[in-house]
Amino acid sequence: RLFNREMNRQKDQLIERVCERLAKAVLCEFPLVEKLELTVKKPYAPVLNHIDYVAVTIERRWHKVYIGAGSNMGDKASYLDYAVKRICEDDNNRNFREAARIVTEPWGYKEQDEFLNTVFAFDTLYQPLELLDKLQDIEREAGRSREIHWGPRTLDLDILLYDKEIIEGERLIIPHPLMDKRLFVITPLCELHPYGIHPLTGERFCKIKDNLLKNTT
Ligand code: ATP
Ligand code: MG
Ligand code: MG
Repeated sequence: RLFNREMNRQKDQLIERVCERLAKAVLCEFPLVEKLELTVKKPYAPVLNHIDYVAVTIERRWHKVYIGAGSNMGDKASYLDYAVKRICEDDNNRNFREAARIVTEPWGYKEQDEFLNTVFAFDTLYQPLELLDKLQDIEREAGRSREIHWGPRTLDLDILLYDKEIIEGERLIIPHPLMDKRLFVITPLCELHPYGIHPLTGERFCKIKDNLLKNTT
């Protein structure tokens, strides 16, 4: 039924896109399905070619992500609320949770207002760079501009963790390289992910938090 519905819904039947749509439909409509491998075969019509069919196979799954969120301009809480709304209304995301919001001193560049920080956790179907694009869209919609590095901002959304993946790309580094130096990230992260382990160092986040606390007192 789902297959027929998705096939009828779509006008251009590019086989890759059919495969993507079906995978997403199954993952969204059957909550117990965590991941799937899907193959779509299309009978190959032109008679002169000795090919029976063309096929596309993809693997798609829900990925667990943690996002560090912060604001230190204007109505800080409402910028965070806006991010929550935008993430939750996207059906590529599910199981959203948010840690308690904390007021923190500026980090790096001190001459600015205090921050409101938290961490979001959710499952997403987006690939890492797609997720970065979506989060940057939300930052832009919240009026984010980048003038001073680590300077005042309406909204900052940083990808802390994407499953246990290690990514070192030009636009994206995961785990976030400074997360284990920042109490304002580690404290809310520990609340949502108390037994979590840093994928690069193997250290427990709660241990990292204890060490950071010792160094600040
Ligand atoms: P910091 O990353 O030290 O917290 P920032 O959040 O103020 O600083 P931004 O201006 O928000 O920095 O982002 C600068 C660039 O960082 C972005 O354009 C993005 O491509 C890149 N980047 C690299 N890794 C990540 C990540 N894990 N999450 C978000 N952005 C990242
Ligand atoms: Mg940041
Ligand atoms: Mg950022």
